[in-house]
Amino acid sequence: MVAMAELAHPLLPSIARGLKGRCPHCGKGKLFWKYLKVSARCETCDHDLARYPADDGPAYLTILLVGHLIVAPLLFFPIVWQSSPAYSLPLILVPLAILTLLLLPRVKGGWIGMMYALGVKDTDGKLHTADYAD
Ligand SMILES: [Zn+2]
Repeated sequence: MVAMAELAHPLLPSIARGLKGRCPHCGKGKLFWKYLKVSARCETCDHDLARYPADDGPAYLTILLVGHLIVAPLLFFPIVWQSSPAYSLPLILVPLAILTLLLLPRVKGGWIGMMYALGVKDTDGKLHTADYAD
C-alpha cells in the first residue's frame, strides 16, 4: 500500500506543464488534440495521457475560481446593482463566459498534471469500490 504523501512525480512541475497544455511527463508534447479532448498518447514521448481521470473536477475548480475570484468581488461595486440589467448583464456575463472558457482547458491541464504527479489512473477508482473489498 502506497501512502498518500508519496508522489509519483514532482507536483509543481507536473501541474505547471499541464497548465501550459503540455504533457506532464515531458513538458513538450501537446496535452489536448481539441479544446478539451486529451490526446491518447504524447506525440513527443509516447506517454499514455488518456489514463488520467479528469471527470468533473476541472469544471468544478473553474467555477470555484471564477465565482470566488471574479464574481464575488464584482458584487462589491455598486454600479453592478444600480445599472439597468439590460446593460449590466451582457457586459458582465459575456466576459465571464469568455474567461471561463479560456480558463477551463488550463485548469483541466493542471488537473491532469496533478493526477500524473499523484500517480492516479482511471483504473484506481475501481480499487475503492465495495465490489473489490471482499
Ligand atoms: Zn510527453
